[in-house]
Amino acid sequence: MSDDTNLNHKAEERLGDEIKFLQIRITELEKTESRHKVSDELLRKTELQQKAILNNIPDIAWLKDRESRFIVVNEAFARSCGLRPEELVGKADLDIWPRELAERYRADDKEVMESGKRKCVEEPLADKENKVLWIETIKTPIYSDKGEIIGTTGIARDITERKKYEEKLREARAELEIRVKVRTADLSRTNEELRREIEEHRRVEKDLKKGEERYKMLIEYLPLLVAVIDESGKFIVWSKYSEKLLGYTKEEVIGKISQVEVHESKEDAENVLRSAVKEGIYDDEIKLRHKDGKIVLVHLVVVPFKDKDGFPIFYGFAEDISKRKQAENELLKSNKRLKQLVLMDEQTRLYNHRYLGEVIEAEYQRAKRYAHPLAVIMLDIDYFKSINDVYGHQFGDLVIKQFARQLKKMVRRYDVVIRFGGEEFIIISPGLDRVQVLVLAQRLLEMLNLYNFGDKKHVIKLKLSIAVVSYPQDRAIRGIGLINSVDQILNKAKESGGNRVYSSLELGNTKQLLQENKHKQVDVHLLKGKIEKLTKRANQGLVEAIFAFAKTIELKDHYTGEHVENTVRYTTGICEKLGLPKEEVELIKQAAVLHDLGKIGISEKILLKRAKLTKKEFTEIKKHPQIGADILRPI
Ligand code: GH3
Ligand code: MG
Ligand code: MG
Repeated sequence: MSDDTNLNHKAEERLGDEIKFLQIRITELEKTESRHKVSDELLRKTELQQKAILNNIPDIAWLKDRESRFIVVNEAFARSCGLRPEELVGKADLDIWPRELAERYRADDKEVMESGKRKCVEEPLADKENKVLWIETIKTPIYSDKGEIIGTTGIARDITERKKYEEKLREARAELEIRVKVRTADLSRTNEELRREIEEHRRVEKDLKKGEERYKMLIEYLPLLVAVIDESGKFIVWSKYSEKLLGYTKEEVIGKISQVEVHESKEDAENVLRSAVKEGIYDDEIKLRHKDGKIVLVHLVVVPFKDKDGFPIFYGFAEDISKRKQAENELLKSNKRLKQLVLMDEQTRLYNHRYLGEVIEAEYQRAKRYAHPLAVIMLDIDYFKSINDVYGHQFGDLVIKQFARQLKKMVRRYDVVIRFGGEEFIIISPGLDRVQVLVLAQRLLEMLNLYNFGDKKHVIKLKLSIAVVSYPQDRAIRGIGLINSVDQILNKAKESGGNRVYSSLELGNTKQLLQENKHKQVDVHLLKGKIEKLTKRANQGLVEAIFAFAKTIELKDHYTGEHVENTVRYTTGICEKLGLPKEEVELIKQAAVLHDLGKIGISEKILLKRAKLTKKEFTEIKKHPQIGADILRPI
């Protein structure tokens, strides 16, 4: 785009000279031409005017005879060779280009003349600075009145920009194909359609002999809207391609409709002319209106000019860029989707741990720079495994989803909620100090404790452990340091029984306790906490909770798991035979479930040993009923 703008600025400078030159020539012509000729007719027929149009387009354009000698070339062409247009007339490709290139061009011309068909080539060429440019060349045969081919025309344009987009699109598509199966077909079609459009151009059957006709012919061939309007805004030139782009034929446009009608709005139309006059050129992307009402996005260049009587007229060129814009938009969209896929948790629509990595460092740096606090809250649902065990995994999924939705609702708009792991969540709250984040976390805990999760069949309440930190009161040298701290504090909250909020303050108070728990006793302590939690759970009966818990023992020792079920079966059988009261049977059943509970406190090495136990090992295993009793005594 910036290359185009540059060219247009150069074109603008040349235009100044061109205008003066033209004024003189027009005055001369005026003397010789019949005075009865209408001015717009003159405008269309005058070689110089046509030439001015050709010289104002950024494309390279030329016309060759049957022997591939140049008959007409435009300014852009001459400029690219470092010559003047007159110097090129009569020359052939061999006089200008390296031999190999020239021969290929000659072969292309022949092919076009023999086949009678248009040829379009896209190729990379090195410019003077050895920068690679992608050039698109379209060659077309030209016919005489009698239908003989008498030469060729060619247009070459720089499509490096478009190629760049195509290349980016290809890369994005490759990535997309791996992750999502989306509409890649659309994208690859873009290029194909562009080419087909050019193919569809109709052949022009004009005689080559009249000089002014040659330019006119070339203009018709350009894949550009080329138009000229008079002072009143009426069209006086309308190229063939313009019909293709906006749907109006020459007959419908020339002398009839005003340029306002091809713009999206009257304001647009007025603005284009106003800025063309003010700046000397209008050069921007704009929407035009097709005859059937649909909007076409174009790159429009409008240059003010003066007709022979000194009245202002405007030259306009418009290139259809909707395809390129579409490709750009597709690219933007697919990038956005990619980002979502990578950073989002599908199940809860919250951000995932990958996003946490991105956002925590950025927020940390921001907090540091602007000296405001940065709080992090970490939440873990207590005993979630037992919810899966009792109600099934699908139910568990539902609860997680509901939990995520609640969480999102309860925080402020600029807090970031992240699903850190299975039933663990993180909230990043910029601006909250430690007391403020403790208050927020306490409120979250209370509200979530009260909320009814589940479906029509089962309603459950959740307990959760929450840890909070706030920088700079809690020190950290990187964002990830805050996450580590909050994770450690969460473990302590869990170990202390769960369903509570902890910060580094509580950690100080409980240091002593935690220190003691370092050794074997830690298991017992932890289990006590868990059982306590279970018994407190409002929606779960004690037996249900104990069974759920017994299942976790099963994970530790398969033998024990099955053994528990068998023991329960036998004992309840015996109790019933004995005719014991119902409450007593229930009590014995609970005892049966838990009679081997203390094995949890015994090392796996002893528990699973196949060979005979040593004396020391035997003493150790004998402790298990005592451990079981210790755990259960408080409840
Ligand atoms: P506590 O935190 O109280 O120590 O016990 P817990 O059972 O919640 O802790 P733990 O982290 O050991 O287990 C978490 C369980 O949560 C493991 C897994 O079965 C379950 N879980 C995690 N994510 C999901 C999920 O998306 N859906 C379901 N249904 N279960 C999940
Ligand atoms: Mg967990
Ligand atoms: Mg948990």
